[in-house]
Amino acid sequence: MRLSGPFLKPKDGLVLGLVFGSTCAVLVLSAHQTGAGSVVDARAAPAILSGILGGPVAGLVAALVGGLARYYVGGPFAVGGSLSIGAYALAGFFLGRLFKLNMLDDSLAAMPKVILIAIICTVLITPAFFVDQPFDVAFPAFKTVFPILVLQNIFGTALLGGTLLLLFRSIQNRKRLLHAIEALPEAFVIYDADDRLVICNKRYREVYGNSAASMQQGMKFETILRFGLANGQYLDGIGREEEWLAERLERHRNPTGPVEQSLPNNEFVQVHEVRTDDGETVGFRTNITLLKRQQQRLEHQAASLREKAEELSLAKQQSDIASRTDELTGLGNRRGLNRKLVEFADRLTPDKELCVLLIDLDHFNAINDLFGHVGGDHVLNNVARILEQSAPPDAYVARSGSDEFIIAMLREKDDGVAAQTAQAIIDACDKPFVYEGKELRYGASIGITITQNPGCTSLIENADIALRSAKRSGRRQYRLFSQELRSEAEHKKWMVDELSKAIAEGAILPHFQPQVSSANYGLVGVEALARWHHPTKGWIPPDVFIPLAEEFGLLARIERIIARDSIMMVQRLKADGIDIPKLSINVSVRAFETTAALGTLEELKPWPCRIAFELLETVDYTYDYKQLGPLIQKIRAGGVEIELDDFGSGHASLTTLLNLRPDRIKLDRMLVASLDSHDIGVNPLVRSITEMCLRLKIPMTAEGVEKENQALALAALGCDAFQGFIFAPALPEQDLRDWITNMKTNGLSIR
Ligand code: C2E
Ligand code: CA
Repeated sequence: MRLSGPFLKPKDGLVLGLVFGSTCAVLVLSAHQTGAGSVVDARAAPAILSGILGGPVAGLVAALVGGLARYYVGGPFAVGGSLSIGAYALAGFFLGRLFKLNMLDDSLAAMPKVILIAIICTVLITPAFFVDQPFDVAFPAFKTVFPILVLQNIFGTALLGGTLLLLFRSIQNRKRLLHAIEALPEAFVIYDADDRLVICNKRYREVYGNSAASMQQGMKFETILRFGLANGQYLDGIGREEEWLAERLERHRNPTGPVEQSLPNNEFVQVHEVRTDDGETVGFRTNITLLKRQQQRLEHQAASLREKAEELSLAKQQSDIASRTDELTGLGNRRGLNRKLVEFADRLTPDKELCVLLIDLDHFNAINDLFGHVGGDHVLNNVARILEQSAPPDAYVARSGSDEFIIAMLREKDDGVAAQTAQAIIDACDKPFVYEGKELRYGASIGITITQNPGCTSLIENADIALRSAKRSGRRQYRLFSQELRSEAEHKKWMVDELSKAIAEGAILPHFQPQVSSANYGLVGVEALARWHHPTKGWIPPDVFIPLAEEFGLLARIERIIARDSIMMVQRLKADGIDIPKLSINVSVRAFETTAALGTLEELKPWPCRIAFELLETVDYTYDYKQLGPLIQKIRAGGVEIELDDFGSGHASLTTLLNLRPDRIKLDRMLVASLDSHDIGVNPLVRSITEMCLRLKIPMTAEGVEKENQALALAALGCDAFQGFIFAPALPEQDLRDWITNMKTNGLSIR
C-alpha cells in the first residue's frame, strides 16, 4: 500500500505531517493559552488534511506532534486527543482515497468532497472524545461541542484544504509545464514584455551553448545576445557585432517569419518568434541542420551538374570547332564555311557584298604522283598559309576538297578586294615551292562570285562555274562569275548529258581522212577522226565534244570506240581487198585514256595494218615528261607507232620533244596554211622544224594541205606525206571505199 497521500511522495508526507502536526500543536497550545479550552479545538482540520493529502505517514506524524502538544497542555483528553488527531488523519486518508480526491480536480470541484470528508470525520471521530466520560456528562458536553466541532472542522478543512489544493495545483501545473517544455524536441524560450528570460528548456541552452551561461531567469534578451556575441555564438555577427545586434533586436521586437541561423558547431536552426498579446515573446528553434545539409548536398550536386554541363558544352564547343576545322591545314572546312556563309548573308546590307573565291590548284595530281601524299600535304599546307596571308583579316578561309579551297568575305560594295586577293593568291602560288630540296611547281585557278542577294544558294556552284571557265582559259587566272558563264555552263551540262547518251547509243563513230605519199600521192594511211551525229543538231565537230569529253571524263570511252570501230573498218576493207597501210588514231596523252585505247587494240589483235597514235603536241611535255616517258614506252611495247600531232603549234622545246623520238611528226595545219603562196621562206619556224626532222630522220606528214603549191613546197621541204582537203576530208566508211576505189582507177585527183 502506498504510504503517501494522492498528491505527495512519502518524503513529502513526512514534511506535511510535521507541518500539520505543528499546526495542530500551535492550535492546541494557543487554545489553551487563550482559555478557549478544549471546546474550541482546531486540531481536527489540519489532521484531516494531512491524512487526505499526505497519507497515513503524514497523519501519524501530525497525530504525534499534535498529541505531544495536547499532552504538554495536559488535561483529561490528553491521550484521547492525541489518538483523535491520528484518527482524523487516517480517516482523512481513507476517505480521500474513497472519494477519489485528485489533485487534477479543480479546487472548487474538490471542495464538496473535502467538506464531506470533514463532516464524516467529525461525525466518526468526535464521539471518541467522550468515550472515557460517563454518559450524563459526556452527552451534554457532546451536544455543546459537536456543532462547534463540526463547523470548526468544516471551515478549517475547507479553508486550509482549498488553499493548499490551489497551491498544489499551481505547483503541479508549473511542474507539468516544465516537463512539457523540457520534453520538446525543439528549443523553447519565453521572454516577458520587458524582454527578460522567463523560461527556456535544456535544448535551448544546448543550441546556444556559448551563451548558455548567461541564460538566467530574468536576464535581458539583449544581455544574453551580447554574451553570445562575445563568445562567438553568432557566426554572422562576427566583425559587425553592433549592427548584427540592432538587426536581431529589431527582428525580436517585430518578428516577420522564420529566420535561419548558423551556429558555430556547424549546425543550423530556424528561429520562430511569436509576439503574444501581452507583449511576451515565445520562441522556438527548430534544428534544420539535416535539411540544410541536404540542401547543401543538393546545391553541391547542382553545382557539380552545372560544372559538368559547362564541361560538356565546352567539349561540344571544341568538337564543334573540330567538326568545322580541316584536319590537315587547320583551315575551316565545308561545314564551317556553310555556317559562315549564313552568317555573312545575315549581315548583308545594300552597301555590302558577299564574295566567294573558289581556288583550285593546277597540276596538283601530278605533285601527288611525283612526290607522294606527304609532298602533296606540304603543298596544301603551303597553300593554306598563302590563302591566310592573302585574304583580308575578317575573311573565312576553308579547304573544301582535296586541292580546292574557298575564301568567303563580306566586303564594301565594289571595293575590288576579291579580285585583288585572287590575283595575290595566283601570284604567290606561281612561285616554286621547295620540298626536300626540289622545286615543286603548281598554280592556282580561281572562280569568284559576288552577290548582294542574301538568299543566294548557288554561291559555290557559281564560283565553280567561274573556276571552270578560268581553267579552260588556260589556268593560273581568276574569272568572275556572270550569267553568261552560267548559261554556258548549263549548255555544257546539256551537251555532256547528250554526249553520254550518244556514247551509249553508238552515235559516236569514226570518219577517216586519207594520208597520201608526197612522192606519188599513193595512199599511205588514214587518220581516224571522231564524229558525233546528234539527232537534232546534226554533225557536231570533235573540236566541240572532245574537250568536253576530256573535261567530264568521257574521253576514254570515246577513244575505245574509235579504236575498235576504226580497226574493224580497216579489217572489213581488207577483207574486201582494200589495203590500208596504216591507221592513225588520235589519243589524249593521259595514262588513263591511252591505256584504255591500248587495251582495246590488244583485244583486236592481229591488226590488219600498222597502227599509230597521234599525240597532241600542245600538251605541256616539259611538265608531263616524267609521266610521258613510261607511257610512250608502253605504247611502243604494244607495237604502236608514235606520231606527234599538230607539231609546231605548241610551246614546248623542240629538243625536248624530239627526245621522245617519235616515229613521225604531223606538221600543224596552221604552219601549212602559212605556206600560202610563193615565198616559203617567210616562215622560218617551218624551215627549222623540217630541217631538224630531216637531220634526225623523223618523217613528217603535213596536215591541212589545201593547195597544190603548199603540197609542192612541203614536198620540197622534205615532207613525205600529206593530209588535207585538197585530197579528201574525213570520210565515212563507204565514202572512203569509194574514194580509194576511185583513186585506184583514176589516179589521185587534186580537188
Ligand atoms: P587533228 O588531229 O589535228 O585532226 C585534223 C583536223 O584537221 C580534223 O578536224 C580534220 O577534219 C581537219 N582537216 C583535215 N584536212 C584539213 C584541211 O585541209 N584544212 C582544214 N582547215 N582542216 C583540215 P576534226 O576532224 O574537226 O578534228 C579536230 C580535232 O579533234 C583533231 O585534230 C583531233 O585533235 C581531235 N580529234 C578528232 N578525233 C579524235 C579522237 O578520236 N580522239 C582524240 N583524242 N581527239 C580527236
Ligand atoms: Ca590528228
